[in-house]
Amino acid sequence: MSSEVSPETRLIVATRANHVCEYCLLSEQDVYFRFQVEHIISRKHGGSSEVDNLALACVYCNRHKGSDIATIIPGQQELVRLYHPRNDRWRNHFRLDGVTIEPLSQIAEATIRILQMNHDDQTLERLTLKRRGRYPSEAARLLITEH
Ligand SMILES: [Zn+2]
Repeated sequence: MSSEVSPETRLIVATRANHVCEYCLLSEQDVYFRFQVEHIISRKHGGSSEVDNLALACVYCNRHKGSDIATIIPGQQELVRLYHPRNDRWRNHFRLDGVTIEPLSQIAEATIRILQMNHDDQTLERLTLKRRGRYPSEAARLLITEH
């Protein structure tokens, strides 16, 4: 969920993320809409507004995530939590296949579905950026390479 975080907090969160959406890896400088600071565990579920519960998210990811923190994968009975950008590593859960974000875990599968990370609008935007050499950006590559 977006919220009224202070400009100082926004700067901390955005800088920490290298201005990259911590879910789909879009770079803030490549899109028209300013990224949002989202509560990983939403306030509705008792999440705090401390920086360790905040992540930088693009408008698409933030809008679809809303206050969700978990889901049930179709055909399964178990509740699966969503990806937690502070506790999880992107490369342990996701991989890029061109501009499609592929899941490496149930957590990723749940997150991709709820955030609609491979929606046509998003993959089209990523494809346009990829053709310009902007997806994944240099900053995003840090999140996906093994170091
Ligand atoms: Zn995103």
